[in-house]
Amino acid sequence: MKIANYDGRASLIVDEGVIDIQQASSGAFGPDLQSLYEDFAAFVAAAGAFDLTKSVALDRTKLGSPVPKPAQVFAIGLNYFGHAEEAGLPVPAFPATFTKFPSSLSGPFDPVPRTGETVDFEVELVVVLGNAARNVALSDAWDVVAGVAVGQDFSERTLQFAAGGQFSLGKSFEGFGPIGPWLVTLDEVANKDALQLRCFINDELVQDAVTTDMVFSVSQLIVELSKVTTLWPGDVIFTGTPAGVGITAKPPRFLAVGDIVRSEIVGIGEIINEVIAPG
Ligand code: ZN
Repeated sequence: MKIANYDGRASLIVDEGVIDIQQASSGAFGPDLQSLYEDFAAFVAAAGAFDLTKSVALDRTKLGSPVPKPAQVFAIGLNYFGHAEEAGLPVPAFPATFTKFPSSLSGPFDPVPRTGETVDFEVELVVVLGNAARNVALSDAWDVVAGVAVGQDFSERTLQFAAGGQFSLGKSFEGFGPIGPWLVTLDEVANKDALQLRCFINDELVQDAVTTDMVFSVSQLIVELSKVTTLWPGDVIFTGTPAGVGITAKPPRFLAVGDIVRSEIVGIGEIINEVIAPG
């Protein structure tokens, strides 16, 4: 299934049509998206009987974040060998974890404000939890995942590295966490441990990698995070960015007003964010 936030309502994308989940389930599920993740196994079990006959044509400007209000958002730094190498930093021995505040999450085609001189791009695989999870075993880790989506971990580098490191603040300006275009459930993801991500700036390819280059796999991240804290249904994990970000380019290349950032994961979809002046 492709689960979308369409005009604020939980929806399914079928072909190029949008189906309202509350309507299709005769009121059993939706319209709130968070409620789907909290009862995800029941939702998946019931979905086969949904009435899919009434759809509207997809207008992508109405898509919001498929996880609008997660309890927790985790993000992982230096989680691709290629990115650690380009940054000239040692490969971490433990997932380098920070948060993006939930208020930074935005829709897949929302603009991103250029809040400073050093706003940078980071295409990422985003994982959304479909179960509560604590002390998860490696072999069970994918079982607690509802699905995956494309994300951008926009980063204001000056603030990120201020005062010894302010990752959470530097990556949490409003609009710095677009997710989408929808959440794809794992039954539709054949190669979930080998997904190809790409990022284009104004159609120039700047990032291109496969998640097999991750230092810590999605399963390992869930294991480590769930040792520390309970992961809740609907929680979001930004799993790190591969090589090719602006700060490591020579010379560094940061985003300008008018730039179009297009991020894709093959088989999942693409999100497009235009850089705009703040305010
Ligand atoms: Zn990142």
